[in-house]
Amino acid sequence: MPPCSRLLTLLSDYLDNSLPADVRADLEKHLGGCSDCTAFVGTFRSTVSLLQSLTDDDLPEELRLRLRAFLDDRCKS
Ligand SMILES: [Zn+2]
Repeated sequence: MPPCSRLLTLLSDYLDNSLPADVRADLEKHLGGCSDCTAFVGTFRSTVSLLQSLTDDDLPEELRLRLRAFLDDRCKS
């Protein structure tokens, strides 16, 4: 799996701090070298905190798809 897609699948757990330390270190290493993903995480994080101020539910499917499209667009490799 390409690193950028992998980051996307793990992102919720990453922001919840529920990833194993080694996986987390892996992601952070990727973030250190990938400005697209860094920008994406920033966008995701602020979107999530906005949503969490409204509801405790998981991210709506539509938002998930939009984030995926955003990442696919920015992280072609
Ligand atoms: Zn990336």
